[in-house]
Amino acid sequence: MVLTFHRVLDDAESRLTCSLPGIVVRRRTFESLAAYAARQYEAVDFEQAAEAGAGKLRVMFTFDDGWKDNYTNALPVMRNCGMPATVFVCPGLIGRTLPFWPEAIASLLGEASPPVSGAEIESLIETLKTYSTERRQQYIARLCELHAPAGGKHAYNGDRTVSWDEIREMDAAGIRVGCHTHTHQILTTVPPQTARQEVRESKRAIEAALRRSCNLFAYPNGNTSAATRQILAEEGFTAAFTTERGAWTSGSDPMAIPRVNVCEQSVVGLTGRFSPAMFQYNVFWKAWRALRTERRVPAKPRREAVLSQA
Ligand SMILES: [Zn+2]
Repeated sequence: MVLTFHRVLDDAESRLTCSLPGIVVRRRTFESLAAYAARQYEAVDFEQAAEAGAGKLRVMFTFDDGWKDNYTNALPVMRNCGMPATVFVCPGLIGRTLPFWPEAIASLLGEASPPVSGAEIESLIETLKTYSTERRQQYIARLCELHAPAGGKHAYNGDRTVSWDEIREMDAAGIRVGCHTHTHQILTTVPPQTARQEVRESKRAIEAALRRSCNLFAYPNGNTSAATRQILAEEGFTAAFTTERGAWTSGSDPMAIPRVNVCEQSVVGLTGRFSPAMFQYNVFWKAWRALRTERRVPAKPRREAVLSQA
């Protein structure tokens, strides 16, 4: 099972961040989750995942986007638990504040008058993900004109990505670094030549900075297609991860490995603390159910064929 995390924030950071709740886990929740996973499962790196195991269910921890809190909050916890991790970064957005447009929009609208609800912001972000890059940029430029920064959340500079020095330090500490495109483009919404450039440039930049090969990839927003998978294979990647919920098995396409997103709401109970039962249900049970559903799909046309003959 491959777990996807994005941000691990302490309580003060959780209150100030412009990131949507679906990509945030509180640090204390993450500490409990990592300790639980270290006891219950075998935490593995990508290469260990291909080897014979000790019989325990295996989990692989991945972090998308390269947020600075991966370095400050999450990775010290992983190290304490002796667990490996993979961080997927965008070289073109290293060391920046508000590096991704969803946080920039939440920051702009978070201070809007009349107020815009969190649900409305979330819905707008989902709609904008379907736009072309140019159309989205035009829309965001218009939003900037309408909602000039007015302090408040804009004064918070914690929504940042890691620096190259921090990436090198993580690499030296055994954290695996993978590609997440150069500037976090959703590959299925850009022209094929742009998709290839985003993939190629991200790999080149990481390999130049770390002086080692970088063969793992995570699709921004999880979006993939036959064409993007072919580009990745041609550019030398050996495995790529989606955000499609499911369990990674020997039958999975190595260029479309499913994962399970983990956020605060999916793993805490009524007390607001990490709940092993919620973790088991929302992460493992739902992933296995997705796998069973997927395996049942080929059976459907056969059944329909039989019925149509009857
Ligand atoms: Zn991402």
